[in-house]
Amino acid sequence: MSCQYNFSAGPAAIPHEVLKKVQSELLDWHGTGMSVMEMSHRGKHFMPILDETESNLRLLLSIPENYKVLFLQGGAITQNFMVPMNLLNDTTASYVVSGYWSKRTFEDAQPFNGIHLSASSESIDYKVPPNYQDWKYSNKDAYIHYCMNETIHGVEYFDVPIIHDVPLVCDMSSNIFSRPINVKSFGVIYAGAQKNIGPAGLTVVIVRDDLIGAADKKTPTTFNWKIQSDNKSMINTPSTFSIYVAGLVFKWLLQKGGLKSVEEENIKKADYLYNFIDSSDFYYNDINKNNRSRMNVAFRIKSDELTSKFVKEAEEDGLYGLKGHRIVGGLRASIYNAMSLEGVIALVNFMKKFQGNN
Ligand SMILES: *Cc1c(COP(=O)(O)O)cnc(C)c1O
Repeated sequence: MSCQYNFSAGPAAIPHEVLKKVQSELLDWHGTGMSVMEMSHRGKHFMPILDETESNLRLLLSIPENYKVLFLQGGAITQNFMVPMNLLNDTTASYVVSGYWSKRTFEDAQPFNGIHLSASSESIDYKVPPNYQDWKYSNKDAYIHYCMNETIHGVEYFDVPIIHDVPLVCDMSSNIFSRPINVKSFGVIYAGAQKNIGPAGLTVVIVRDDLIGAADKKTPTTFNWKIQSDNKSMINTPSTFSIYVAGLVFKWLLQKGGLKSVEEENIKKADYLYNFIDSSDFYYNDINKNNRSRMNVAFRIKSDELTSKFVKEAEEDGLYGLKGHRIVGGLRASIYNAMSLEGVIALVNFMKKFQGNN
Protein backbone atom coordinates (compact mmCIF):
# COMPACT_ATOMS: atom_id res chain seq x y z
CA MET A 1 0.00 0.00 0.00
CA SER A 2 1.17 3.53 -0.62
CA CYS A 3 2.20 5.85 2.18
CA GLN A 4 -0.68 7.35 4.13
CA TYR A 5 1.25 8.71 7.11
CA ASN A 6 4.94 9.48 6.78
CA PHE A 7 6.95 9.09 10.02
CA SER A 8 10.36 9.57 8.36
CA ALA A 9 13.04 11.42 10.33
CA GLY A 10 14.22 13.55 7.41
CA PRO A 11 13.62 14.38 4.66
CA ALA A 12 10.26 14.28 6.37
CA ALA A 13 6.58 14.90 5.70
CA ILE A 14 5.57 18.33 4.40
CA PRO A 15 2.02 19.53 5.18
CA HIS A 16 -0.38 18.26 2.54
CA GLU A 17 -1.97 21.72 2.11
CA VAL A 18 1.48 23.13 1.34
CA LEU A 19 2.17 20.45 -1.26
CA LYS A 20 -1.20 21.17 -2.90
CA LYS A 21 -0.34 24.86 -3.02
CA VAL A 22 3.07 24.10 -4.55
CA GLN A 23 1.35 21.90 -7.11
CA SER A 24 -1.16 24.58 -8.04
CA GLU A 25 1.59 27.17 -8.50
CA LEU A 26 4.21 24.88 -9.98
CA LEU A 27 3.87 25.79 -13.66
CA ASP A 28 2.70 29.37 -13.28
CA TRP A 29 3.53 31.33 -10.16
CA HIS A 30 1.05 34.20 -9.67
CA GLY A 31 0.42 34.70 -13.38
CA THR A 32 4.07 35.09 -14.29
CA GLY A 33 4.00 32.06 -16.59
CA MET A 34 7.08 30.78 -14.75
CA SER A 35 7.80 28.25 -12.07
CA VAL A 36 9.60 29.57 -8.97
CA MET A 37 12.34 27.06 -9.93
CA GLU A 38 13.04 29.02 -13.09
CA MET A 39 13.20 32.50 -11.59
CA SER A 40 16.31 34.60 -11.21
CA HIS A 41 17.21 34.69 -7.52
CA ARG A 42 17.77 38.45 -7.71
CA GLY A 43 14.73 39.07 -9.89
CA LYS A 44 11.62 41.09 -9.11
CA HIS A 45 9.51 37.96 -8.51
CA PHE A 46 11.84 35.99 -6.27
CA MET A 47 13.06 38.83 -4.02
CA PRO A 48 9.59 39.38 -2.49
CA ILE A 49 9.31 35.60 -1.91
CA LEU A 50 12.59 35.69 0.01
CA ASP A 51 11.57 38.78 1.98
CA GLU A 52 8.19 37.32 2.92
CA THR A 53 9.79 34.00 3.94
CA GLU A 54 12.18 35.86 6.20
CA SER A 55 9.55 38.12 7.74
CA ASN A 56 7.22 35.20 8.50
CA LEU A 57 10.11 33.24 10.00
CA ARG A 58 10.90 36.24 12.20
CA LEU A 59 7.27 36.60 13.20
CA LEU A 60 6.94 32.92 14.18
CA LEU A 61 10.04 32.92 16.38
CA SER A 62 9.69 36.58 17.53
CA ILE A 63 13.25 37.23 16.38
CA PRO A 64 14.68 40.48 17.78
CA GLU A 65 16.02 43.14 15.37
CA ASN A 66 19.64 42.49 16.30
CA TYR A 67 19.60 38.96 14.84
CA LYS A 68 20.26 38.15 11.19
CA VAL A 69 18.56 35.31 9.36
CA LEU A 70 20.64 33.53 6.72
CA PHE A 71 19.36 31.09 4.11
CA LEU A 72 22.35 28.88 3.39
CA GLN A 73 23.16 25.45 1.97
CA GLY A 74 25.19 22.44 2.98
CA GLY A 75 22.87 21.20 5.72
CA ALA A 76 23.36 21.34 9.46
CA ILE A 77 26.58 19.36 9.08
CA THR A 78 28.21 22.19 7.13
CA GLN A 79 27.66 24.42 10.18
CA ASN A 80 29.90 21.97 12.07
CA PHE A 81 32.85 23.73 10.47
CA MET A 82 31.21 27.07 9.63
CA VAL A 83 30.58 27.72 13.34
CA PRO A 84 34.27 27.44 14.32
CA MET A 85 35.39 29.25 11.14
CA ASN A 86 33.11 32.18 11.94
CA LEU A 87 33.39 32.34 15.72
CA LEU A 88 36.51 30.71 17.07
CA ASN A 89 39.00 33.44 16.21
CA ASP A 90 42.00 31.63 17.79
CA THR A 91 40.19 31.12 21.08
CA THR A 92 38.43 28.08 22.59
CA ALA A 93 34.94 26.59 22.55
CA SER A 94 33.08 23.95 24.59
CA TYR A 95 30.85 21.22 23.19
CA VAL A 96 28.09 19.33 24.96
CA VAL A 97 27.52 15.78 23.68
CA SER A 98 24.00 14.45 24.24
CA GLY A 99 23.56 12.07 21.30
CA TYR A 100 24.75 11.13 17.83
CA TRP A 101 24.47 14.57 16.22
CA SER A 102 26.15 16.64 18.91
CA LYS A 103 28.92 14.02 19.10
CA ARG A 104 29.43 14.33 15.38
CA THR A 105 29.52 18.12 15.69
CA PHE A 106 32.20 17.84 18.37
CA GLU A 107 34.22 15.42 16.21
CA ASP A 108 33.87 17.54 13.08
CA ALA A 109 35.31 20.53 14.97
CA GLN A 110 38.48 18.62 15.98
CA PRO A 111 40.66 19.97 13.12
CA PHE A 112 40.34 23.39 14.80
CA ASN A 113 42.40 24.18 17.87
CA GLY A 114 40.83 24.84 21.25
CA ILE A 115 37.79 22.53 20.96
CA HIS A 116 36.87 21.14 24.39
CA LEU A 117 34.33 18.61 25.59
CA SER A 118 31.97 20.32 28.01
CA ALA A 119 29.91 17.32 29.14
CA SER A 120 28.77 14.02 27.66
CA SER A 121 26.04 11.48 28.31
CA GLU A 122 27.56 8.85 26.04
CA SER A 123 28.47 6.55 28.94
CA ILE A 124 24.78 6.26 29.88
CA ASP A 125 23.73 5.64 26.26
CA TYR A 126 22.35 9.20 26.02
CA LYS A 127 19.30 8.33 28.12
CA VAL A 128 19.54 11.60 30.10
CA PRO A 129 21.28 14.63 28.55
CA PRO A 130 24.00 16.31 30.65
CA ASN A 131 22.57 18.67 33.24
CA TYR A 132 23.26 22.36 32.61
CA GLN A 133 24.89 22.54 36.05
CA ASP A 134 27.44 19.97 34.90
CA TRP A 135 28.41 21.73 31.67
CA LYS A 136 32.06 22.73 31.92
CA TYR A 137 33.18 25.82 30.03
CA SER A 138 35.47 28.78 30.37
CA ASN A 139 34.15 32.31 30.34
CA LYS A 140 36.82 32.94 27.70
CA ASP A 141 35.20 30.45 25.32
CA ALA A 142 33.97 31.90 22.04
CA TYR A 143 30.82 29.76 22.40
CA ILE A 144 29.20 26.66 23.88
CA HIS A 145 27.65 24.29 21.35
CA TYR A 146 24.79 21.91 22.03
CA CYS A 147 21.96 20.17 20.21
CA MET A 148 18.48 20.78 21.62
CA ASN A 149 16.83 17.70 20.15
CA GLU A 150 18.77 14.56 19.31
CA THR A 151 16.88 13.17 16.34
CA ILE A 152 18.30 9.64 16.49
CA HIS A 153 18.32 9.01 20.24
CA GLY A 154 15.03 10.84 20.83
CA VAL A 155 16.33 13.05 23.64
CA GLU A 156 15.36 16.70 24.00
CA TYR A 157 16.20 19.61 26.29
CA PHE A 158 13.03 21.53 27.14
CA ASP A 159 14.37 24.47 29.08
CA VAL A 160 17.34 26.59 28.09
CA PRO A 161 20.35 27.26 30.31
CA ILE A 162 20.93 30.82 31.41
CA ILE A 163 24.54 31.55 30.54
CA HIS A 164 25.44 35.21 30.43
CA ASP A 165 29.10 35.29 29.61
CA VAL A 166 29.37 32.87 26.68
CA PRO A 167 27.08 32.69 23.62
CA LEU A 168 25.12 29.49 23.10
CA VAL A 169 25.25 27.93 19.65
CA CYS A 170 22.39 25.50 19.17
CA ASP A 171 21.62 22.85 16.56
CA MET A 172 17.80 22.91 16.36
CA SER A 173 17.53 20.93 13.13
CA SER A 174 14.78 18.63 14.34
CA ASN A 175 12.80 20.75 16.80
CA ILE A 176 12.86 24.30 15.45
CA PHE A 177 9.29 25.63 15.02
CA SER A 178 7.89 22.84 17.21
CA ARG A 179 7.31 25.33 20.07
CA PRO A 180 8.11 28.94 20.96
CA ILE A 181 11.71 29.62 21.98
CA ASN A 182 13.36 32.70 23.40
CA VAL A 183 15.82 33.60 20.64
CA LYS A 184 17.57 36.04 22.98
CA SER A 185 18.95 33.09 24.95
CA PHE A 186 21.08 32.10 21.97
CA GLY A 187 23.99 33.52 20.04
CA VAL A 188 23.43 31.27 17.04
CA ILE A 189 20.63 28.87 16.08
CA TYR A 190 20.89 26.67 13.00
CA ALA A 191 18.75 24.01 11.37
CA GLY A 192 18.72 21.94 8.21
CA ALA A 193 15.31 22.42 6.58
CA GLN A 194 14.37 18.83 5.82
CA LYS A 195 12.98 17.94 9.25
CA ASN A 196 10.52 20.61 10.32
CA ILE A 197 10.85 23.38 7.73
CA GLY A 198 10.60 22.14 4.16
CA PRO A 199 12.61 20.46 1.41
CA ALA A 200 16.27 19.53 1.82
CA GLY A 201 18.86 21.92 0.42
CA LEU A 202 18.19 24.87 2.71
CA THR A 203 19.90 25.57 6.04
CA VAL A 204 18.53 28.34 8.24
CA VAL A 205 21.06 30.18 10.43
CA ILE A 206 19.92 32.80 12.94
CA VAL A 207 22.84 34.76 14.35
CA ARG A 208 23.15 37.70 16.76
CA ASP A 209 24.73 40.57 14.87
CA ASP A 210 27.66 41.14 17.25
CA LEU A 211 28.80 37.56 16.48
CA ILE A 212 29.11 38.33 12.79
CA GLY A 213 32.40 39.55 11.40
CA ALA A 214 35.04 37.54 13.27
CA ALA A 215 35.53 34.89 10.58
CA ASP A 216 38.94 33.41 9.99
CA LYS A 217 40.66 35.03 6.99
CA LYS A 218 40.77 31.69 5.15
CA THR A 219 36.96 31.34 5.27
CA PRO A 220 35.51 30.98 1.75
CA THR A 221 32.93 33.64 0.84
CA THR A 222 29.98 31.23 0.76
CA PHE A 223 30.85 30.05 4.30
CA ASN A 224 31.35 33.50 5.75
CA TRP A 225 28.28 34.63 7.74
CA LYS A 226 29.20 38.30 7.36
CA ILE A 227 29.56 38.14 3.60
CA GLN A 228 26.35 36.14 3.30
CA SER A 229 24.56 38.53 5.63
CA ASP A 230 25.76 41.60 3.73
CA ASN A 231 24.54 40.00 0.51
CA LYS A 232 21.06 38.80 1.60
CA SER A 233 22.35 35.18 1.54
CA MET A 234 23.10 35.63 -2.15
CA ILE A 235 26.84 35.62 -2.48
CA ASN A 236 26.03 32.67 -4.70
CA THR A 237 22.71 31.22 -5.83
CA PRO A 238 20.64 30.19 -2.79
CA SER A 239 18.28 27.19 -2.80
CA THR A 240 15.41 29.24 -4.20
CA PHE A 241 12.77 26.55 -4.47
CA SER A 242 13.37 25.28 -0.93
CA ILE A 243 13.13 28.86 0.36
CA TYR A 244 9.80 29.28 -1.44
CA VAL A 245 8.37 26.04 0.01
CA ALA A 246 9.68 26.94 3.48
CA GLY A 247 7.84 30.26 3.10
CA LEU A 248 4.59 28.38 2.44
CA VAL A 249 5.22 26.20 5.51
CA PHE A 250 5.70 29.35 7.62
CA LYS A 251 2.36 30.73 6.37
CA TRP A 252 0.73 27.40 7.23
CA LEU A 253 2.17 27.61 10.78
CA LEU A 254 0.90 31.18 11.16
CA GLN A 255 -2.56 30.10 9.99
CA LYS A 256 -2.51 27.40 12.66
CA GLY A 257 -2.17 30.21 15.21
CA GLY A 258 1.62 30.32 15.56
CA LEU A 259 3.98 28.26 17.63
CA LYS A 260 1.99 28.28 20.87
CA SER A 261 -0.88 26.39 19.18
CA VAL A 262 1.57 24.23 17.28
CA GLU A 263 3.20 23.31 20.59
CA GLU A 264 -0.13 22.33 22.15
CA GLU A 265 -0.83 20.01 19.23
CA ASN A 266 2.69 18.55 19.44
CA ILE A 267 2.28 17.86 23.17
CA LYS A 268 -1.01 16.03 22.49
CA LYS A 269 0.60 13.91 19.80
CA ALA A 270 3.68 13.00 21.84
CA ASP A 271 1.68 12.31 25.02
CA TYR A 272 -0.70 10.06 23.13
CA LEU A 273 2.14 7.93 21.79
CA TYR A 274 4.33 7.84 24.94
CA ASN A 275 1.32 7.08 27.16
CA PHE A 276 0.46 4.13 24.99
CA ILE A 277 4.07 2.87 24.99
CA ASP A 278 4.25 3.19 28.79
CA SER A 279 0.96 1.37 29.28
CA SER A 280 2.06 -1.56 27.12
CA ASP A 281 4.20 -4.48 28.21
CA PHE A 282 5.15 -5.13 24.59
CA TYR A 283 6.84 -1.82 23.62
CA TYR A 284 9.17 0.40 25.64
CA ASN A 285 11.07 3.68 25.64
CA ASP A 286 13.81 4.15 28.24
CA ILE A 287 14.69 7.81 27.81
CA ASN A 288 14.44 9.94 30.97
CA LYS A 289 10.77 11.02 31.10
CA ASN A 290 11.51 14.76 31.25
CA ASN A 291 13.73 14.56 28.19
CA ARG A 292 11.67 12.45 25.84
CA SER A 293 11.72 14.09 22.44
CA ARG A 294 8.42 15.50 21.29
CA MET A 295 9.51 15.20 17.67
CA ASN A 296 11.29 11.85 17.48
CA VAL A 297 9.82 9.01 19.50
CA ALA A 298 12.39 6.21 19.59
CA PHE A 299 10.94 2.97 20.92
CA ARG A 300 11.56 -0.75 20.90
CA ILE A 301 9.68 -4.01 21.00
CA LYS A 302 10.67 -6.16 23.98
CA SER A 303 11.15 -9.04 21.54
CA ASP A 304 13.65 -7.20 19.36
CA GLU A 305 13.45 -9.83 16.59
CA LEU A 306 9.93 -8.61 15.74
CA THR A 307 11.26 -5.19 14.68
CA SER A 308 11.61 -5.82 10.95
CA LYS A 309 8.23 -7.55 10.83
CA PHE A 310 6.73 -4.46 12.50
CA VAL A 311 8.28 -2.14 9.91
CA LYS A 312 7.11 -4.29 7.01
CA GLU A 313 3.53 -4.71 8.24
CA ALA A 314 3.27 -1.03 9.19
CA GLU A 315 4.19 -0.13 5.60
CA GLU A 316 1.53 -2.50 4.33
CA ASP A 317 -0.92 -0.46 6.44
CA GLY A 318 0.32 2.82 4.94
CA LEU A 319 2.51 3.84 7.91
CA TYR A 320 5.87 4.72 6.46
CA GLY A 321 9.36 5.43 7.85
CA LEU A 322 9.19 3.73 11.27
CA LYS A 323 12.54 1.94 11.18
CA GLY A 324 14.99 3.26 13.81
CA HIS A 325 18.28 4.80 12.63
CA ARG A 326 20.76 2.11 11.64
CA ILE A 327 23.20 3.01 14.44
CA VAL A 328 20.65 2.43 17.23
CA GLY A 329 18.17 0.01 15.64
CA GLY A 330 14.68 -0.35 17.07
CA LEU A 331 11.83 1.83 15.89
CA ARG A 332 11.28 5.56 15.62
CA ALA A 333 8.24 7.66 14.85
CA SER A 334 9.13 11.19 13.81
CA ILE A 335 6.07 13.31 14.51
CA TYR A 336 7.05 16.75 13.27
CA ASN A 337 4.58 19.60 12.78
CA ALA A 338 3.29 18.08 9.54
CA MET A 339 2.15 14.90 11.31
CA SER A 340 -1.48 15.10 12.46
CA LEU A 341 -2.93 13.68 15.67
CA GLU A 342 -4.95 11.34 13.40
CA GLY A 343 -1.65 9.97 12.07
CA VAL A 344 -0.43 9.26 15.60
CA ILE A 345 -3.74 7.60 16.49
CA ALA A 346 -3.45 5.43 13.36
CA LEU A 347 0.04 4.43 14.48
CA VAL A 348 -1.12 3.51 17.99
CA ASN A 349 -4.01 1.48 16.53
CA PHE A 350 -1.53 -0.38 14.35
CA MET A 351 0.75 -0.95 17.36
CA LYS A 352 -2.17 -2.45 19.31
CA LYS A 353 -3.08 -4.70 16.41
CA PHE A 354 0.54 -5.83 15.95
CA GLN A 355 0.85 -6.57 19.64
CA GLY A 356 -2.37 -8.60 19.55
CA ASN A 357 -1.13 -10.68 16.62
CA ASN A 358 2.28 -11.38 18.13
C1 LIG B 1 19.47 15.68 10.49
C2 LIG B 1 20.28 16.37 11.51
C3 LIG B 1 21.58 16.83 11.21
C4 LIG B 1 22.22 16.64 9.87
O1 LIG B 1 21.63 17.51 8.97
P1 LIG B 1 22.11 17.66 7.45
O2 LIG B 1 21.15 18.72 6.99
O3 LIG B 1 21.91 16.33 6.82
O4 LIG B 1 23.50 18.11 7.42
C5 LIG B 1 22.26 17.50 12.21
N1 LIG B 1 21.73 17.69 13.43
C6 LIG B 1 20.49 17.25 13.74
C7 LIG B 1 19.95 17.49 15.11
C8 LIG B 1 19.73 16.58 12.79
O5 LIG B 1 18.50 16.14 13.10
